[in-house]
Amino acid sequence: MRTVYVAEYPAVQHRHDDGDIVTVRLRLRGGVHRAVCSGCDTEFVYRKPTPSNVAHVKSPLLPGVKGNFDDGEGH
Ligand SMILES: [Zn+2]
Repeated sequence: MRTVYVAEYPAVQHRHDDGDIVTVRLRLRGGVHRAVCSGCDTEFVYRKPTPSNVAHVKSPLLPGVKGNFDDGEGH
């Protein structure tokens, strides 16, 4: 049996070779939500989508504007 990790919950839809769309419901087992489809011999294991590993920094195109304003003098 092969294992497929999915981010769908609580049910997983997948297509069989014969074109059938099959829905299996995840069940909590061993602390993990999983579903077994005997039709295609596949175990679906739910895995939460993980947050991006990419660091999110402020856009360098818009640095803090400082000291460019009219200081009010000379009017
Ligand atoms: Zn299946």
